[in-house]
Amino acid sequence: MNDAAPWPPPGIDPNVPSTARVYDAALGGKNNFKADREAVEVFARKIPQVREATRLNRDALIRGVQYLVRGAGIDQILDIGCGLPTEQNTHQAAQEINPNTRVVYVDNDPMVLSHGRALLADNRTTTVVTADLRDPAGILANPEVRGHLDFDRPIAVVIVGMIMQIHENEKPDEIIATLMEPLVSGSHLFLTAWPDTGDPAQRGLSQGCLETLGNGWIRPIERLEQHFLGMPLVPPGLEYVSRWYPEEPGREVPAFEDFEPYERTQMAGIAVKP
Ligand code: SAM
Repeated sequence: MNDAAPWPPPGIDPNVPSTARVYDAALGGKNNFKADREAVEVFARKIPQVREATRLNRDALIRGVQYLVRGAGIDQILDIGCGLPTEQNTHQAAQEINPNTRVVYVDNDPMVLSHGRALLADNRTTTVVTADLRDPAGILANPEVRGHLDFDRPIAVVIVGMIMQIHENEKPDEIIATLMEPLVSGSHLFLTAWPDTGDPAQRGLSQGCLETLGNGWIRPIERLEQHFLGMPLVPPGLEYVSRWYPEEPGREVPAFEDFEPYERTQMAGIAVKP
């Protein structure tokens, strides 16, 4: 960080919890304020293992990125709702496998930009922009996105831990369709999402999120499947994250019946554009 830069950055109110900072606090990170840590406590009253649930999502992100780069040969990633830098990040997981992987991070929280820039100062293949998923055309037209990614070659769109923040009225599937439309065949879509099967842990996570951040909607599994726009999913399909190992579809995984409650709260899937 540049010592002369204002802190907190413009547009940040440390007294109001933000998704990026609450998520960071739940992961045990340091890029958060008191209000964010208090929000994690509110979550914990609704779902005691909220920290474990958060870690499950982050671990699924990394497994998915590893699959995209190693298993699918992807070397361009558009990671939207990327969150604050933590251990481990998309570009690190990707570039460990292929150092030439180009990554664009997108988040609408200005704190992500300032921390991301500091982290990426020496990294020429990765960049970070402030933009909003609810303006997918704006993301596609963003000069930094266009300059950094080659739209004539496959791109993986990663929307992990954030589609649940888009209300149905904001038409999440239309947003995703707009993003995927200009991408060439072989491009991928990687999502994690929150199912609603009537389970109390799922309800608790959603209520905690709605109470502290004003968003965080659970949806029936059939509804989550629609986010993939009918594109074929790679094995094991849309699955609870504890059972979701796209690089090892035959791997021994816990039975759903043996899940801890928090393991029922998140699902992951990767689809490929035909
Ligand atoms: N993708 C990371 C992961 O799964 O580990 C971080 C997920 S975090 C729960 C959600 C992130 O999405 C936050 O950093 C938040 O600022 C960002 N976000 C929320 N709504 C957004 C929007 N409409 N456009 C862009 N980013 C958004």
